[in-house]
Amino acid sequence: MAVVTAATVIRTLHRIQRQLTDLRSQLAAGPKQIAVQVKRVEYAEHEREQVTENLKKARKHADEKQLLLRSSEAKIHDLEAKRNTAKANREYQLLGEQIDADKMAITVLEDEILESLERVDEVNNQQPVAANNLKKVTEALETLKQQVQKETAQLEEEVARVMGQLEEAERDLTSETKEIYQRVVKHKGEDGMAVSEGGCCGGCHQQFTGKMLSQLLAGNVAMCRSCGRLLYEPEANS
Ligand SMILES: [Zn+2]
Repeated sequence: MAVVTAATVIRTLHRIQRQLTDLRSQLAAGPKQIAVQVKRVEYAEHEREQVTENLKKARKHADEKQLLLRSSEAKIHDLEAKRNTAKANREYQLLGEQIDADKMAITVLEDEILESLERVDEVNNQQPVAANNLKKVTEALETLKQQVQKETAQLEEEVARVMGQLEEAERDLTSETKEIYQRVVKHKGEDGMAVSEGGCCGGCHQQFTGKMLSQLLAGNVAMCRSCGRLLYEPEANS
């Protein structure tokens, strides 16, 4: 059986702490994904409202033009009646010119009506597209929520299991190492520990002193004088 040194214990604890950090970041990812999808739903809702609003506007515009057409036609009708009873030649001629001008305006108006009706059709066709898109993103949100709920439950179970391993591993700490370990973890979490890498701190790359090197090679832990991380030798060396 391998000798349990301070390095062995800290190495195990560092691995477990890293695992916990990873699990916690996976746990945090779910709500973030949901938030992104909620934004998509909100955007699709906005788009659909916009189409409804545009349709209302297009219909109103077309109605107004048609109303204008009817009043222009009535006006021409009146002018024609007036012309039929005109006594003077000059009056007859002036009314004729007025009628021609108004008829010309009506031709323009009719074109505009056609365009406004085309616009109504165009916006109307956007409605099913917008509604379908909203349905799609809403369904995707529901699926995602269920998926995240399921994953969260699994991850929480995993966290509980790993926390149990952590507690068990922490029992192997000597009181001296325990104090240092608890202090660094409290302040920096798993980043409070680092492996020794070729005589340097794996966290900040500060070179070790001779005393630290011999401490580490003996299977003990050391504190980095530069970053304060709790250091240990990699597995093969202790
Ligand atoms: Zn360091």
